Amino acid sequence: MNPTAQTTPTEGDALLVVDVQNDFMPGGALGVKGGDRIIPAMNRSIESFLVRNLPVIYSRDWHPPDHSSFLDNGGIWPAHCVQHTEGAGFHSDLLIATPTRLFSKGTRAAEEQYSAFHAEDETGSPLSSTLAHLGIERVYIGGLATDYCVLNTVLDLLQAGYRVIVLNDACRAVDVSPNDGHAALERMIARGAVMMSSLDFRSRG
Ligand SMILES: [Zn+2]
Repeated sequence: MNPTAQTTPTEGDALLVVDVQNDFMPGGALGVKGGDRIIPAMNRSIESFLVRNLPVIYSRDWHPPDHSSFLDNGGIWPAHCVQHTEGAGFHSDLLIATPTRLFSKGTRAAEEQYSAFHAEDETGSPLSSTLAHLGIERVYIGGLATDYCVLNTVLDLLQAGYRVIVLNDACRAVDVSPNDGHAALERMIARGAVMMSSLDFRSRG
């Protein structure tokens, strides 16, 4: 099924909110241009799930200070989303569902982990298990950044047999090279992901 205008999420759907964290906002340690502009679209999507009692799941980058992805430790990124810092917190305008299904990734110093698929909750249980446990078949996804964590999460979900709908107005790219975000979307589509705007969620019913 292709979502058309007036999409209604249903049983078997989950919304995955990827890394909407302060360090990925403009002015943050690893700021994504326009990162804060996704918040209304993200919140609209979250509300659309909450009003139907459907699961909303949050991932976060949650690095130890000696994480291997940081420039000081031989990686390619400035230090970002260090555990328990303000930069690792969610944007203050982001709607947080309670109880909060929260999955952390990049928690082991030696391991880069762009994909949220194996991110772990506070008990160490991975997102992949939660999706299976909840009987999820289709995942709506938005967040930061299109060309890294969203891309890799989407590819893992598709690989695992989930249907994936990317909320393209709820994503922004790092664009280390100018076309990276666009190329990432093309890769997702080529593998079977479907694009949709959060404006196409039916508000109720
Ligand atoms: Zn990171």
